[in-house]
Order: sequence, then structure tokens, then C-alpha cells
Amino acid sequence: MEAAQFVMPGSYGRGIPVWQDAGLRAARRLVSAFESALGQWWTPRIVEHPFLMPAAEYKEVFDNYTNVYETTVPEAGGSCVLTPDNMSASVGLLRKHGGEEPLVAVGGLLRVLPGGAQPLFRDRHIWPAVQVTHLVSEQNAVAELERHRLAVTRLHEMLCLPVMTVRTGSLASYGRTTYLTVSCLPDGRPTVTATLYVMSGRYRDRLLTDSEVIDVGFTGKLLALVALHHRDAFGLVLPSVLADAQVGLLVEEAGRRGQQWQADQTQGGVRVRAMQSAPQPYARRRAERRLLRQGVPLIVGVRGDALRMARRYPLRRADLPALPEPQALHGELAAHDDRLRRISADRFSAGLKEAGRLVARCDRCAETNGEEIFGWTVPEAGEPCGVCGAPGSEVLLGGRFY
Ligand SMILES: [Zn+2]
Repeated sequence: MEAAQFVMPGSYGRGIPVWQDAGLRAARRLVSAFESALGQWWTPRIVEHPFLMPAAEYKEVFDNYTNVYETTVPEAGGSCVLTPDNMSASVGLLRKHGGEEPLVAVGGLLRVLPGGAQPLFRDRHIWPAVQVTHLVSEQNAVAELERHRLAVTRLHEMLCLPVMTVRTGSLASYGRTTYLTVSCLPDGRPTVTATLYVMSGRYRDRLLTDSEVIDVGFTGKLLALVALHHRDAFGLVLPSVLADAQVGLLVEEAGRRGQQWQADQTQGGVRVRAMQSAPQPYARRRAERRLLRQGVPLIVGVRGDALRMARRYPLRRADLPALPEPQALHGELAAHDDRLRRISADRFSAGLKEAGRLVARCDRCAETNGEEIFGWTVPEAGEPCGVCGAPGSEVLLGGRFY
């Protein structure tokens, strides 16, 4: 991500990564992709709350949280917290203006970080933090949560990340129903990528709402996970949904032919970035490397009458008979995404299924077998118990992981 100029090498201090333009644009694309996934059912509203929040308002809801930064700002009404969470502000907004639609708060969250930081996995300044708040009726809560689960799953698919959802009881004081989405690291170890709650009655009461409160959240960790999974010898390989330039156009001179072609692609919904180079082979290679480092999925090279396309992951170059039409490029990008998805899906099944973390248990064995159960697969997958053979369902084993 540093080589792709998403983030700066180093940080402003422990747990405060510094984002650069390309990373900011990718974060915007991440949010847009999620918005489109939610758009299947709703018209979500995107907001960014102020960075300072009256401390009293926050503590009315989360009184026992010690991981917040407090400061006194007379202009902002005295004691404030540096926004550690968006839920109370979002519920406030929904109560004031009404609305059946989900509210999506985007921005940064600040939390006291004990111990070491792990950029984008464990930070003090968590950015981008995307948090959905949705007020729903009691009888619709579980059905609406399921729609949110499908939207988050769809987001993972667009990012070419494998994902499953588990229901867990371990955060019962927080969520009446708690779902966690689980993906994996390149070595197959599971990692949590999003949290989905129907908030417990205690929080619903404190938030002063009669509705059920659905809270869904994920962070820039998703971008980091994309970067961990999808790279080749030349650097980051972006899924097409995140790529600012989906196709790099490598030309020796800015000719009218190239410009017209680029305009046609834009018209056809393909994002093209042209890169000019001197004709010498080393200059072309350098220009190509620059595009590759930025994560560009496909590169079309024009050299006199010769045309080539470079596909990635691993890098392969092939001759082209003619400059491709937008439709052909959409097909190429879909094949590119499929390649990414296949490779990460293999790691996921190796890390979870083949490693014996995903097994079937009946209720009795789950309670008495002494295993740590991380959660139950959602939607429930009925299977005979792997220990005793009685009717059971799929569970993800393991202690706590993040
Ligand atoms: Zn059993």
C-alpha cells in the first residue's frame, strides 16, 4: 500500500496511519461499493459526524468505556470526547429527522490504544470507519439484519475477499443478536472483517428509542486485507471495483487515436489512465511498472501498429488484434476479479475447512466437548454432528481472534 501510495511509510505516531490521495480515493470507492450493495434494498444516507462529541451525551450510552479521549473545548460546550463511535449521534439524527432508511456514518474514530499498533488492523485513529445505524421495528429486526448481512457479503465479493458469517453469543451484553463476518489472512488464519448487531435492550433504552437499533460496522482493514491477498511481483493488484484506473493505456505519444479510444471507454464505463513513455524499452518498462505499482488490473500497450495487453496475477502479456471495446474490457475485468476471488477462496477453504476449524456440532457436544466455539454459521447449515452423529449444524472453532 505504501508502494501504491495509498499510505505514507511510517505514521504520525503509534496507531495513526497517514493516507495519501490514492488511498483516499480507494476508501471512497469502498464506501460507494457498500452504498451500491445497500442500494439493493434501501436508499442509504451517507453522513460524517463532527469530530467532537459532548462527553455527557456519549457517556449516557457508553458509560463504562475507558478507551476514549476527552478534552475540554469551551466553543463546543465544554467536556468533549474525540468521536470514538457514531451510533449515538446517528440515532440522534434518525430520531430527529425520522427515516426508515439506514444512515451510514463515514469518518475516523479515535480510541485509546493499549499495546502495539498494527496499521489498519489495530489503530488509534481508525479510518475509514464505516458504521451503519438503522432503526427497525421489533418484528422486522432479524429479517433486516439478514439484508445487512447480504449487503456486507456482497461487499466482500466485490473486493474479491472470501467471507462467511457466524452468530456468536459472546457479546451478548452489547448485541441481542450478534453476527461477525469472518474472512482470512493469506496464510488461512481467520480474521473478523465486520460486526453486525441488533443492539441489546440496554442500549436501545439508553439511546431513547422504541425501535430496534441495527449497528453494522467495518473499517479500512478491508482495504488492508485486499492488499495482503492481492499482489504480484510488481505490487498491489486491485479488484476492479477499487481501481481508480481499471485499464492503463501505455502509449509512445499522445495521439488522437488513443484519446478517442480513451473517451469511448469512459463512455462505456471503464476507467482508463493513459501513461506516455519515450520509445526506448527501458522507458516503456518504467512507465508500465508505475501503472503496475498503482494496482492497475489491466494494461493495454500501443507501440506503432503493435498492440499488447498485460493481465496480472501473475503478469502475462499477450498480443491484441485490435484495441478492445468497452464490452470486451468489462469481460476482462470480470475475469480478473474472478482470478482474485478464486485464489483467496482457496486460502479460505484451506485455512478453515481443511484445517478443521469449520466442523459440525450438535447442541449437546457444543456444550460439553470442551472446545471453544467462535460462532455458528449463518445461515444455519444443518449437518450431522462430527462427534456423535446427532443432528447438528456448522460451527467455527477457535478462541478469540480479530
Ligand atoms: Zn454431538
